[in-house]
Amino acid sequence: MSDLRELYQEVVLDHSKAPRNFHALPDASADAEGFNPLCGDQVHVYVTLEGDLVKDVALTGNGCAISKASASMMTQAVKGRSREETLALFERFHWLVTGGVQDPDELGKLAVFAGVSEFPVRVKCASLAWHTLKAALEGARAPVTTE
Ligand code: ZN
Repeated sequence: MSDLRELYQEVVLDHSKAPRNFHALPDASADAEGFNPLCGDQVHVYVTLEGDLVKDVALTGNGCAISKASASMMTQAVKGRSREETLALFERFHWLVTGGVQDPDELGKLAVFAGVSEFPVRVKCASLAWHTLKAALEGARAPVTTE
């Protein structure tokens, strides 16, 4: 567990300093805003869908290191997945940060967030971007098509 903890600190520091996919998507098929009043984290998630595929995902916002790192890693984890896979991954991630996942390896790089389950107040920070992505996917306008 101590290796995972060290890795967690490294990953959170890296992603919170230089969040990936940190920009708006002007041609997004869907977007949603999320806010975590407990901590002051805010995020705006943009998704470009191609059929059922999350072709691109990006975000803007501000918040604590955990919320930024989790959001940044989320964009990397879901890009190229189907909507269904993305929602299933969110469910597994949510179990992970609430201490319910037996086998964190299933989550790949996201497994470093297992330690968050020890700090209940941080669960909302880590899952804010995921909740917001889910809202965007569920409220998504049909992607524009020329056919
Ligand atoms: Zn936070």
